[in-house]
Amino acid sequence: MKKLTELKGIGPKTESLFAKLGITSQEDLLRYYPVHYDAFEEPVKIAELIPGAKMAVAAHVESRPVLRTVRNLTILSCEATDETGKIRITWFNAPFLAKQLIPGEIYVFRGNVSERKGRVVLDHPEFTSPAAYAEKVSTLVPVYGLTKGLNSRAVGRAVGQVLENPACSEEFLPESLLRLHGLIGEEEALRGIHFPENADALEAARRRLVFDEFLLFVLLIRLLRRETEEEKTAFPMEKTWAAEELLHRLPFRLTKAQLRVWKEIEADLAGAHPMARLVQGDVGSGKTVIAFLSMLMAAENGWQSALMAPTEVLAKQHYEKLCALVKEQHLEQVRPVLLLGSTKAADRRRILAEIADGSANAVIGTHALFQESVAYRDLALVITDEQHRFGVHQREALARKGSPPHCLVMSATPIPRTLGVIYYGDLDISVIDELPAKRLPIRNCVVDESFLPQALRFVRKQLGEGRQVYLICPMIEESEGLDAANVTDEYKRIRKEFPEVPCAMLHGRMKAEAKERVMADFSAGKTKILVSTTVVEVGVDVPNATLMWIRSAERFGLAALHQLRGRVGRGEHQSYCIFMAGQKNPAALKRLEILNHSSDGFEIAEKDLSLRGPGDLTGIRQSGDARFRLADVTKDGEILRLAGETAAAVLHDDPCFADPQYVLLGRKVRTLLEDKDTSLAL
Ligand code: ADP
Ligand code: MG
Repeated sequence: MKKLTELKGIGPKTESLFAKLGITSQEDLLRYYPVHYDAFEEPVKIAELIPGAKMAVAAHVESRPVLRTVRNLTILSCEATDETGKIRITWFNAPFLAKQLIPGEIYVFRGNVSERKGRVVLDHPEFTSPAAYAEKVSTLVPVYGLTKGLNSRAVGRAVGQVLENPACSEEFLPESLLRLHGLIGEEEALRGIHFPENADALEAARRRLVFDEFLLFVLLIRLLRRETEEEKTAFPMEKTWAAEELLHRLPFRLTKAQLRVWKEIEADLAGAHPMARLVQGDVGSGKTVIAFLSMLMAAENGWQSALMAPTEVLAKQHYEKLCALVKEQHLEQVRPVLLLGSTKAADRRRILAEIADGSANAVIGTHALFQESVAYRDLALVITDEQHRFGVHQREALARKGSPPHCLVMSATPIPRTLGVIYYGDLDISVIDELPAKRLPIRNCVVDESFLPQALRFVRKQLGEGRQVYLICPMIEESEGLDAANVTDEYKRIRKEFPEVPCAMLHGRMKAEAKERVMADFSAGKTKILVSTTVVEVGVDVPNATLMWIRSAERFGLAALHQLRGRVGRGEHQSYCIFMAGQKNPAALKRLEILNHSSDGFEIAEKDLSLRGPGDLTGIRQSGDARFRLADVTKDGEILRLAGETAAAVLHDDPCFADPQYVLLGRKVRTLLEDKDTSLAL
């Protein structure tokens, strides 16, 4: 690992800024890909300007710019024309620009278009001569995820220096394979992802790097599967009457799909090998009860089970639900305990003792369940809920606590079925493809930002009825060159709009405990409005929250939006979802309309895949939640398929990576297998 301070212009202060972004070495920096690219498009005519968009326009400056001062603000403005019309251009606090604008000349102005008093205006645009602009057209400028004190240019400069070193990356795939699939070399790809010469170069770079991520991932899970497949289970079980009886006594009948999936799990648990199964079911499809049935079966057979949730709030919720079920249904053989990172020392000692001697046999918690200090008597079944927050290695760590247990993974991530087979290559898959009846459908609307006042009024109305509200933005804070709503500013807006209402902010860069606290307060109804990034996507059930308002909705994949929508509509009250697009872009609105017409996660995922080509640059990756840096299963299905085929072929021809052409690939996969802190988390 090479230190950042070896680079020019990076001292200890900048080093600590980079550390905030999780970048501590030159290798990290190279993999810190831009979140977005600023493209310089061809200039348009004045009549073609669209309010709300960022655009370039070539126009003729009519007369000398006028400088005014209003309170502390200096306002410089001028009129510009072309043969299609006239616009007003304004700059704030930049009086020095006056000298740079020569009346009678033509400039290209590039900035945010808006509309005031029925007139099209351009605020604070950059401008250059048409010739200089022509040189920039079609180039892409990287925009990085930033923290205060670091700008994109500084990050780009640092990355550029790392790339100057010819040994900064290593080609680990054989030439023949690259040629076969039309992939570019590793170094060219890294260069192309940071500093693309044009859209085609970016596309080629992305394709290679996404292929890498998928290939390594698929190889990793296949190797893990190879290791466990042949094993005999150390925890044999028999089917039990207790589970059968519970099915009849529940206040609701299982759906056909739930019943089918339960039968598959039951057969696995009663089989000869450790179970490795994924239950995939849309939000609200009723996965929890399936988990509880499995835990009951383990208990009946005299074994322990553990259920892991990604957050403390969710773990608590599961624990309370299981305790209620045990009490109502007199399931004395199931003895639940809750183990969290925040559990107090004395309680913790008692709980650990109960887990060790087997008096507790249904353990619910967060990743605290993996810690060294937790010793199980005989852990036979491990269930992870909303699995994508858990790593392959965490599952392994649990397996190492004794003989490999039966593993059940529950996920609401809807991905097209054909891809699921590759993506979850280490698991058998069960799908719950049916929702319990009798739920009020969520009312949706797709709007643009002109709807903002109505949306705020609607929030007020929901609050007035005692309900709670989620407001989701794609970004944490403002990012240069990127026109998308952010949590920091929207939180300020909400505070100002609703000063009397308790509200809170939540995002991935907050400390774990702070996040937990915010979520717990919202869950308990203490805060009424939660302004958040998509960290809120998975898990918690707050039935009193009835409005999901998503800003810059066009920035998200439809599958992600569908999951967000699943956070509401969980209680008795009518729920609503506002998908608010940041731009009046007909294509984006049309894509969002799909959500208006479908509530089937799988169907939405398929449609999204067909509508968003792989070259689509509009989506923003949410750092922190991402399994991959670049790859996106819903968007890069074709590359995933290719990586799946390649992995199968490599493992078939050369299962131990002994062939010289695969030696480097083998080394990379093995490092990942051993690395406990890999970002390739399943
Ligand atoms: P998810 O699959 O998103 O985890 P949950 O398991 O939390 O969904 O279930 C959502 C709600 O639906 C819970 O309140 C649960 O009790 C209820 N539920 C589950 N199965 C059924 C069913 N077959 N009929 C009616 N309600 C059900
Ligand atoms: Mg759930």
